[in-house]
Amino acid sequence: MVIRRHKQKPAKERKLALDRIDSLFSEAEKQFKEHPELSNRYVELARKIAMKSKVRIRSELKKRLCKHCHSYLKLGINCRVRLSQKHMSYYCLNCRKFMRFPYN
Ligand SMILES: [Zn+2]
Repeated sequence: MVIRRHKQKPAKERKLALDRIDSLFSEAEKQFKEHPELSNRYVELARKIAMKSKVRIRSELKKRLCKHCHSYLKLGINCRVRLSQKHMSYYCLNCRKFMRFPYN
């Protein structure tokens, strides 16, 4: 009998989705300077893949995606970071909202 964790997709499919997400983020990074709207589309696509395949976007990549307006965030350009004792606050200059991340 095969025991699979609840609602999880097969490992192969998840691995594929994660690879896809990684490459979309690196493509977004490449395009950002000249075509920021393209970057936004790439990360939006990455987000959809993550949802569909029920995988988590790596925390490192999550910081580059605004959870409110879903735009691609580039430090110093459309995103500011503030540090407090308990967490880092990422401020998105597009929608003017904060995201908080605890320290690792
Ligand atoms: Zn935003």
